[in-house]
Amino acid sequence: MKNSTTEPPGSLRNTVSNPSHTVQIAKAPSKGRLRATKTKFSSVDQLVFATRPDMPVHIVRPATITSTAKWFLKQFPGDVLFAVKTNPDPIVLATLAKAGVAHFDVASLGEVKLVAENVPSAEMYFMHPVKSREAIHAAYYDYGVRSYSLDSLEELTKILQVTGYARDLNLYVRLSIPNEHAAMSLCGKFGVATHDAAELLIETRKVAAKLGVCFHVGSQCMDPSAYVTAMALTANLVRETGVKLDVLDIGGGFPSVYPGMTPPSLSSYMETIRAALKAEPLFASCQIVCEPGRALVAEGGSTLVRVELRKAGMLYINDGVYGSLFDAGTPAFVYPVRAIRMGGEVSQQMQEFSFYGPTCDSLDVMHGPFTLPSDIREGDWIEIGQLGAYGATMRTNFNGFRSDATVEVADKPLLSIFGTN
Ligand SMILES: *Cc1c(COP(=O)(O)O)cnc(C)c1O
Repeated sequence: MKNSTTEPPGSLRNTVSNPSHTVQIAKAPSKGRLRATKTKFSSVDQLVFATRPDMPVHIVRPATITSTAKWFLKQFPGDVLFAVKTNPDPIVLATLAKAGVAHFDVASLGEVKLVAENVPSAEMYFMHPVKSREAIHAAYYDYGVRSYSLDSLEELTKILQVTGYARDLNLYVRLSIPNEHAAMSLCGKFGVATHDAAELLIETRKVAAKLGVCFHVGSQCMDPSAYVTAMALTANLVRETGVKLDVLDIGGGFPSVYPGMTPPSLSSYMETIRAALKAEPLFASCQIVCEPGRALVAEGGSTLVRVELRKAGMLYINDGVYGSLFDAGTPAFVYPVRAIRMGGEVSQQMQEFSFYGPTCDSLDVMHGPFTLPSDIREGDWIEIGQLGAYGATMRTNFNGFRSDATVEVADKPLLSIFGTN
């Protein structure tokens, strides 16, 4: 790629030439919008060369999402629910639906509406154990949602009162189970302790059309045995209480791959789960369900940022923890990165950097380390990978930095769990 010297920051270019073709760029001076008429590019490089974006760009790789979804649907011995909170982008929802994902795990009325609009045929499961009465009412009467999770007798009563003691409810009791193998624990806030669950299971059984048990082993679960432990706890509980179980929902937690955090292969999770199901006669007559978020979409998205200033080993970039990089902040996830420079080569020599986000808050810092060319500088772009999960979904408009620019690309992700094992 040959290009003239570095542009002054913020300049508008109407035409960008490259050896193969010329891309026309609409002259749209408004901020917060990608200055391009196109929203699909063959690659991230082509996007940068064609548009030189001065705001963060959320990148979707539909082909990657499609192949991951098809893999999950083929490998998991039951229904695959997409956990919508991970990435509610309409392109992502439509891509998953087209790949065959028919079930969606939603946690708010906002998500119910979003899925109804984008995937009218979807079957939704309202899996937040604490819902407002208004949300339950609208979900049940306006959107036909019949599946709900709960972890208390109070929530059970609430669901029954709001739905007029409906007889067609599929009710999932959320258990609190150990999250010791997960990068992010999800057992502190929700879930009934197994020793308190018997009464709730018995009471729920009396009023449920279908009784389910659900749990979450924690996000980015690094050991497939966590599912086996949770399934054994479930089986013991069901046996002790003597209820008939219709659905076993093993939740999300399936991992993706990050620098320094390589989990066992996803195939080994599937094999372990299949073996545990086979070994437990109680589950033979159950419908089996899972709720992956991260593993379905992480590889299918990136964020493209620009370096606005360098101070030694710190790069001031134009997205941060109030944008799509929340998990790079305190949770300290490390993401794969790649530098892109217009009109020149970057150094082959690599160095570790940390990032500052664009807001004025000192908490807007991402320690990484992120390994990039040693001569990276203002005006270079960085593609930050594995952000298809818990990336753009987290962004806020704090300090006025929200970017809504979203584009689709057709090239390969920076890192793939399917390539590493
Ligand atoms: C967040 C969440 C998920 C998805 O978890 P991942 O770790 O991203 O797979 C699934 N189910 C529930 C109830 C959740 O809260």
